[in-house]
Amino acid sequence: MVKEIAIRIKEIVLLRSKPTSRQIRMLEWLQGFIIVLLILTLILVFTTSYENVDRGNNYEGLIIFLILIMSFNYRFNQKGKYYLSALSTIAITILASWFPLIFDPNVIQGDVVPLTYVTISILLSSLLLPPAITIAVAAFQWLGLVFVSIYVSSMASVNWASFLVYIFMSSVLGILANIIQQRDMAHIDYQSEQLKLREFELQERSVRDHLTGLYNRRYLDETLIREIKQAESQRSSIGIIMLDIDHFKQFNDELGHSAGDTVLMALGDHLSKCVREYDIACRYGGEEFVLVLPRTELEVTKKRAEYVRQTTSNLEVKYNAKRLKPITISLGVAAYPHHGMNSGEILRSVDSALLAAKEYGRNRVEVAQKT
Ligand code: GH3
Ligand code: MG
Ligand code: MG
Repeated sequence: MVKEIAIRIKEIVLLRSKPTSRQIRMLEWLQGFIIVLLILTLILVFTTSYENVDRGNNYEGLIIFLILIMSFNYRFNQKGKYYLSALSTIAITILASWFPLIFDPNVIQGDVVPLTYVTISILLSSLLLPPAITIAVAAFQWLGLVFVSIYVSSMASVNWASFLVYIFMSSVLGILANIIQQRDMAHIDYQSEQLKLREFELQERSVRDHLTGLYNRRYLDETLIREIKQAESQRSSIGIIMLDIDHFKQFNDELGHSAGDTVLMALGDHLSKCVREYDIACRYGGEEFVLVLPRTELEVTKKRAEYVRQTTSNLEVKYNAKRLKPITISLGVAAYPHHGMNSGEILRSVDSALLAAKEYGRNRVEVAQKT
């Protein structure tokens, strides 16, 4: 528990959590908006005549400086440096609220209005950054106001109790809104993650055979068309193996359907280990399977089929803690483009090769006749 809290604090302080695309967009909009406001303010300062020229120049210089920094911040956000950009934006709003008071103390001669700007940085932080940072910003601003209330004599006539309570209340509201928003966002993000996961699961389920976990026939039909198109453009060949368990009806009759299912699962598992990462192993029907081997020549496919035949006859399957009798399979082999130019033709070719393997005595590999 303590460790978890420590990790969480570290995450907040070091700003490790990844900003969401929502936050990045919001920062972009806010920065754009602030830049427009600053430009309008600059126009206002240019058109205002100050009795002290230096005073006007100071304001112009400050606003131009703020526009420049805000433009950099905007670029940082666009370049993926969200936290640097957000923190710098908050720093700018803090600077903008205190800097005029430092170089132009006249601005607060008995007037609290300029001081109300300190709330902007708190509100911005509550929108953009974690609550811990908003609390730090609020504390900093509040300490600044307390300092002014004690040490700036020209402000002695101000009703400080009321003003500080106002700033305190708006800070607390900002922080609360920050916490609520962050919790809600975390919840929404969690839910959308779950939804994506569920969608992926459903998609997987719709293309998988429930017993063996291999791909189903629908997936094969769709994928074979795609693979042929790719092979056509790359001028490569595709090896196809169709296999069927020998005398499986008899096996079921002797040992029961459930033992038969166990064999099907074991064979599915074995086939998935026999294929490469980009091959497709699928359960074509009851006890019939198809292996699609992209970028594989006919001769290599034949060798692979022979390997699958041999290893399957050595497969040890246990059912109710007893070893089941070994199974054998018959295999048909065909290849694109030798045995057909489309998936229908190739599947027909490989099916007739499988039939030939059955006719010639089972537990063997037969290559399709050239069309
Ligand atoms: P062959 O050597 O000619 O292929 O003979 P076979 O008995 O294997 O062929 P057949 O087509 O006559 O029978 C296929 C059997 O496969 C029938 C059925 O009992 C069994 N089968 C099909 N699907 C399943 C399944 O999901 N689970 C189990 N346990 N058996 C299945
Ligand atoms: Mg069979
Ligand atoms: Mg069959």
